[in-house]
Amino acid sequence: METNFSEKQLGDAKNKSSEKILRKCVHCGFCNATCPTYELLGDELDGPRGRIYLIKDMLENNKPANENIVKHIDRCLSCYSCMTTCPSGVNYMHLIDHGRNHIEKTYTRPLYDRFLRNFLSWVLTSTFNFRIISIITLFVKPLGFLFPKKIREMMNLMPVKFPKKTLPQMTLYPAEKRKKPVARIALLTGCVQKVISPQINEATIRLLNRHGVEVIVPKSVNCCGSLDHHLGKEKKSKEVFKNNITIWYDEYLNNGLDAIISNTSGCGTTLKDYGFIFRSDKDFKKKAKKISELTKDISEYLDGNVKLNFIKNKKIEKKYKIAYHSACSMQHGQKIHKEPMNLIKKTGNEVIEIPDGHICCGSAGTYNLLQSDIAKKLLKNKISNIEKIKPEIISTGNVGCISQISNATKIPILHTVEIIDWYTGGPKPKILERI
Ligand code: SF4
Ligand code: SF4
Repeated sequence: METNFSEKQLGDAKNKSSEKILRKCVHCGFCNATCPTYELLGDELDGPRGRIYLIKDMLENNKPANENIVKHIDRCLSCYSCMTTCPSGVNYMHLIDHGRNHIEKTYTRPLYDRFLRNFLSWVLTSTFNFRIISIITLFVKPLGFLFPKKIREMMNLMPVKFPKKTLPQMTLYPAEKRKKPVARIALLTGCVQKVISPQINEATIRLLNRHGVEVIVPKSVNCCGSLDHHLGKEKKSKEVFKNNITIWYDEYLNNGLDAIISNTSGCGTTLKDYGFIFRSDKDFKKKAKKISELTKDISEYLDGNVKLNFIKNKKIEKKYKIAYHSACSMQHGQKIHKEPMNLIKKTGNEVIEIPDGHICCGSAGTYNLLQSDIAKKLLKNKISNIEKIKPEIISTGNVGCISQISNATKIPILHTVEIIDWYTGGPKPKILERI
């Protein structure tokens, strides 16, 4: 695609990167065919190619965003299905991130929108705030009819009961039965995940410890910064990124780290992008690149680095039909698809792919809260595709998808790591007690 940035504009590192991306696009439109919002809404501007034009126009012409541009950019799920399809290697992820930052700088959203976005950023990035709001929700829910539609929907999605933690909160979980661990990793335990699904981190820690891996959980690393990053809140997300980079890099230098493990693919995608985000920051460039290089999704790490001891278990006689839901951030963001399926296959269970598995379930960070009508349609389609193949269990690697899908089906849904933990000596996941 021809671009018309001035020399002065190209002096800006972000414009320079975006220009390179834009030049790769040959406007073939193949990406539209796999874009969930284009498929649902049928408008060129709700597909990747249309959005690319909108962003190009804003950036090249120093144009502030307007209501129409914001509507179409906000409808993008950041699922990156278009990136998997694009034959020219257009990095849509970096372009839409730039577009979102431009919107936040040049457009004043209506008051109610600003309130909602700030509120979500405040609630979902802090476990403390999340707990407070869930308690308030418990009392206010009966009066839900008095609130606007979006707030009512958020109340309905807000969990009011949380599972009990079964592992003590520590900063170091030593490898079992070994004086010297086979590896040392830092685990990102996430912000909301550790409150609503603590069993995911617990399964990860148990499984790694049992296989000789020492796990550290630095106290001051909480959120990965992804949520604010996707809301276009550049300043706040960069503060979080810098905090995490500093802590992990110090740990890497002083005590050694073989990997940084994420068990939420949405967070892992952002961690792997820290290097790009800080590409022109002289203080953080090198450190951020190292953190991205060290980051691995738990399924990627287990499949490539750990010799798993599956137990020939008399207690686990039943074999299950497991549908694998490939989260967008996992398959399109990190290009990890075979690894989790390989792991599940090794348990002896049957693994099946979901029809139209490349299409998002509608969760997408805060998308199901901010764009609930589109998210509901995507969820309905996802559930219908899952139910067509009649699985007994659904497995996935992203807590957002787990919450979204479990709201619409009775089929139990587990994080892949819970299955692997169980088949290598961990406890049977509680949710399976009912089947
Ligand atoms: S598939 Fe790639 S090259 Fe073709 S229009 Fe989409 S982004 Fe551009
Ligand atoms: S990220 Fe997803 S929703 Fe956004 S343009 Fe690409 S395919 Fe469409």
